[in-house]
Amino acid sequence: MLRQTLLQMSKSERVRSAVQKAPVTRSVVTRFIAGSVTEDGVRASSDIVHSGRLVTLDNLGEDTLDAPQARATRDEYLRLLASLEDAGLTQGGRAEVSLKLSALGQALPVDGAQIALDNAREVCQAAEKAGTTVTLDMEDHTTTDETLGALLELRRDFPFVGAVLQAYLRRTEADCRDLATAGSRVRLCKGAYDEPVSVAYQSREEVDRSYVRCARVLMAGDGYPMLATHDPRMVDIGGALARRYGRAQGSYEFQMLFGIRPNEQRRLAAEGETMRVYVPYGDEWYGYLMRRLAERPTNVAFFLRALDTKG
Ligand SMILES: Cc1cc2nc3c(=O)[nH]c(=O)nc-3n(C[C@H](O)[C@H](O)[C@H](O)COP(=O)(O)OP(=O)(O)OC[C@H]3O[C@@H](n4cnc5c(N)ncnc54)[C@H](O)[C@@H]3O)c2cc1C
Repeated sequence: MLRQTLLQMSKSERVRSAVQKAPVTRSVVTRFIAGSVTEDGVRASSDIVHSGRLVTLDNLGEDTLDAPQARATRDEYLRLLASLEDAGLTQGGRAEVSLKLSALGQALPVDGAQIALDNAREVCQAAEKAGTTVTLDMEDHTTTDETLGALLELRRDFPFVGAVLQAYLRRTEADCRDLATAGSRVRLCKGAYDEPVSVAYQSREEVDRSYVRCARVLMAGDGYPMLATHDPRMVDIGGALARRYGRAQGSYEFQMLFGIRPNEQRRLAAEGETMRVYVPYGDEWYGYLMRRLAERPTNVAFFLRALDTKG
């Protein structure tokens, strides 16, 4: 109930403007977001990489309304990749980037899919030049087919492009089977949007069971699984599946979000696991923050406490 309310709030312009203006919001935002400009993302990435973890960076933004805004997002990614390369962070894919096709223009009324694909292609070219990889984030279920279509197109020229699959969608086990092929990078997460029962499992138990089934398909397959979860049970099961299917450390990875379970991130890295941190930065943090609050009541409590102390 609270989750649904927060996810609905994430789409409300009125609430967005109120939350963004709240004097306390900054302190809450900095817990989950690395900063507002390119240099903030690069600095946070450098700290994380030097602590033995890897990074994927997300320039926040998802409601791109016109082609110039989509091009501005693309240009920011080009700037980011150049800065990461200058800082020596892209070698071996230590720092890569995550892209939301909606931020690159996917939802524009005329030729949105093509505009997003063209912009993504330029980002992939820059990533290739910098020696790193790109992963396409997955958004709500109305975009899944289009995003997987873009993945296929991009992988023709840039085989290093990866995708995200969401275990809460009923279709995902089949998508995992399709994508568990050599060279294919798949980030498996539970899913963060408010989806109808017709397409998505609704209970935590069903989503967890689906996550395990999907993880098994990916670990048993020939691709490169990326298990994106903070759930200790899923992390344990992921490790056990890797052992069962004879996967060496480094032939799969764990991923967690910036600011969430940092000690667990370090523990896994210290045990020799590949651990990648998703680092969001930029001013368009509202939708991202609301999804993080929706995931965990203690995140909401943290937010309310901050309101109480400083508001
Ligand atoms: C790298 C990465 C990329 C992602 N990309 C996408 C994407 O493209 N599209 C998308 O829809 N979603 C994405 N997500 C979000 C994802 O779908 C989930 O909404 C989010 O990760 C929460 O699910 P969870 O698996 O962590 O477990 P949850 O079901 O939220 O939590 C399960 C358990 O994990 C532990 N836990 C969770 N959070 C914390 C915490 N803050 N502190 C301590 N323990 C905690 C608790 O024990 C909790 O009971 C991404 C997540 C990650 C990590």
